[in-house]
Amino acid sequence: MLGEMGIVERFYSALMREEVKPLEPLGDKVWLTHLAFDCARRSILETTYLKGIRPRSIIRSWIGRKLHELNVLGKEMEITLEHDGVVGRIDEYDPENKILLEKKTTTFTPREITPITFRQTEYEKWLLEKNGREVRKCFVLYIDFVNDAVRAFEVNPRDSQTIGNEIKERKSRILDARKWGILPPRTPFYLDSRGQLLSCSICPTFHLCYLGEEAVPPELVYLEEEEI
Ligand code: SF4
Repeated sequence: MLGEMGIVERFYSALMREEVKPLEPLGDKVWLTHLAFDCARRSILETTYLKGIRPRSIIRSWIGRKLHELNVLGKEMEITLEHDGVVGRIDEYDPENKILLEKKTTTFTPREITPITFRQTEYEKWLLEKNGREVRKCFVLYIDFVNDAVRAFEVNPRDSQTIGNEIKERKSRILDARKWGILPPRTPFYLDSRGQLLSCSICPTFHLCYLGEEAVPPELVYLEEEEI
């Protein structure tokens, strides 16, 4: 007979089946979101292992995914595009008004766009343009589902040439690390305007990164930065 614990077990099992997907073999392709990270090491770890996940995080992840299903601009959603080995999924695009919208679900209302999200939005604009879709305006919409607040920011991207060069450089760094079995060095931490540590504090592969050399799988070896 099903008891209270059984109901909880079934809840988590149902959630895990929806939220945890097997790792996809990427070959010589790179996900756009991984290019936007400051830390190439995270990109390698995220595509080598399933992420560590806590019950609270998985519930938030499910809420976030459901909120992403809301069609804010009322036009195209979840468009998967590829150019030159970079694959990305665009949350929303309005082809008539040439608007790109990146949606983020959060547990606090940010005062500014994080550098990673800013860069991700720039890269998405680049990807749309490379697929023949003009972009005149880019926005990031933060949906704070803990404090019931919503805030939008307009992104003013750098010029396309600069963005394209940066993507190329980051992509080859990740592909080289994959090809040669190199685990890239940890990226130096930085502080946002609220004095919060980014990069490592939000990294889902933190546990793998800091476990030490014994935790490194055979195909990955540590090298000092200058050796890469
Ligand atoms: S914990 Fe920090 S250094 Fe390690 S992979 Fe994550 S972001 Fe990079």
